[in-house]
Amino acid sequence: MKTKEADLSKAGTKPPRTFLIVDHLPKSSVPAHDAAAPSALDRRAFLKAAALPCLATCALVSGCARPITTSSALAATGNTSPTPWGMATENESQFVVEARFYEKQPNKKIKCKLCPRECVIDDRERGYCGARENRGGTYYSLVHSRVATAHIDPIEKKPLFHFLPGTVAFSIATAGCNVNCKFCQNWEISQVRPEQVRSTYMAPQDLAGLAKQYQCPSIAYTYSEPVIFYEYVADAAEAGHSQGVRSVVISGGYIQQEPLRKWCRTVDAIKIDLKAFSEKFYKEVVNGQLKPVLDTLVTIQKQGTWTEIVYLVIPTLNDSDAELKAMAQWVKSYLGPDVPVHFTRFHPEYLLTNLPETPVATLERAKAIADAEGLHYVYIGNVPGHPAENTHCPKCGRVIVERQGYTVAQAHLKKGKCEYCHQAIPGVWS
Ligand code: SF4
Repeated sequence: MKTKEADLSKAGTKPPRTFLIVDHLPKSSVPAHDAAAPSALDRRAFLKAAALPCLATCALVSGCARPITTSSALAATGNTSPTPWGMATENESQFVVEARFYEKQPNKKIKCKLCPRECVIDDRERGYCGARENRGGTYYSLVHSRVATAHIDPIEKKPLFHFLPGTVAFSIATAGCNVNCKFCQNWEISQVRPEQVRSTYMAPQDLAGLAKQYQCPSIAYTYSEPVIFYEYVADAAEAGHSQGVRSVVISGGYIQQEPLRKWCRTVDAIKIDLKAFSEKFYKEVVNGQLKPVLDTLVTIQKQGTWTEIVYLVIPTLNDSDAELKAMAQWVKSYLGPDVPVHFTRFHPEYLLTNLPETPVATLERAKAIADAEGLHYVYIGNVPGHPAENTHCPKCGRVIVERQGYTVAQAHLKKGKCEYCHQAIPGVWS
């Protein structure tokens, strides 16, 4: 992996950080989708794209992971800010749109109906996520088109293994989050207010245009929590579709049912971080609740939107046999055996630096438990080169997508079917 360092001085009280422009792209990706599908960005094209000063970058080690940065200048978006960093703070109003899910209450109060927290907010106050503000009894998102980081990632890095494998996603985030995971690897943007990080204005059409320009068949809303920039996701997904670009959401799934159903009709895939299978963990480590996340998964499944689950296995906190077994049984009962489950390796970060990395043996134990419960597609993540990165045909047992890290080395799929025995493999392949 080649890295190139760049200085980045952030707004707020934290010292400047160094971030990484990371070349994680496969050396020889073999797209597993059909010939008619959008082609994978080849290495030369990616390097060309990554070298352009207009791209913001971050390094990412899991679906919702790793220090995040802002762009130096996303000049291609047409941002005309005179500042060298393209900060648009001189025009805050361009990021402000009325929120789509809230109720007005007496005395200019509002109740937010976007996520299960249901914040009740006085005039001139903000909700828990810090990204939404009551102004005179009308509720606003402050982060529409307010991109705090952008990067071109392999789709396998999200991870989505059954969605256009071997392609890249134009990946963006705004600041803010509606939970506070003690293990967050993107806390520098997820746990701050929008004004505390440099951001660049990127209108939905611009975002879709950039994705297309850099040969990304999808836009990924990721790194922080797309729920809190809900309106931007919805608008950008529509703009993307009008230009032939799909949208994937990488989320903790802490969202109410109505906005979720609308998202399902708008985006093409939603990856959910199922952070544990106990309310205790959600309360103590996430500051959220498990039940709404399970409801989210059931709804996505019912709506027919492609989904995959990531379960970050944290030593001593969510790695017991009983919890893993209960989770696998729930997935099979409520979602069926074909939803991919990724057990990913924890790295100490943010407020959980006292715990070690997840032993590979623990991940293998988790996979064995889920396999035994009858799940068809169980993966191990953040362990590059592990054989459990591969997709096996559940009927004939052959490897049908062989991966090495984020690289798709070989694919034996034809029109979504196993090339050897013609078993249909669930996913979005073209
Ligand atoms: S989206 Fe933000 S403001 Fe709305 S309920 Fe959730 S945390 Fe509160």
